[in-house]
Amino acid sequence: MTVSSGVLGRCAHCQALLDLEPWQLNAMAMQEPFACKHCHKPLKLDCPEQIKRLKTLGSFATLRALLIVLCATVLLVSLTLQWIGLLERSLQLGISALVLVGYLLVMAIARRRQRRPLLLQAG
Ligand SMILES: [Zn+2]
Repeated sequence: MTVSSGVLGRCAHCQALLDLEPWQLNAMAMQEPFACKHCHKPLKLDCPEQIKRLKTLGSFATLRALLIVLCATVLLVSLTLQWIGLLERSLQLGISALVLVGYLLVMAIARRRQRRPLLLQAG
């Protein structure tokens, strides 16, 4: 039974795509080598750019929570403004649609960045 983290990595030896497990992500974060599941050769992550990417993967859930709070705030404020008569109904609907499209767009970009495999180096 293996637990997937949803993060992909590409092996430097056999070029196989690995579905990385949480303990492998921990090993990479600590710069410890681990064995490839296909060719059993040691792998590690020591390219600064890839390490930076590994760190941003963890912030995905935070980004999502932050965006939901932001969108809810904008929607509530625009609804309140419409309710007290400072904002027209069509404008309020426009703002709501814009916020929704913005949220979906940012999440799509973040998800695509997360799906790109990490390039692992020989350990
Ligand atoms: Zn391999």
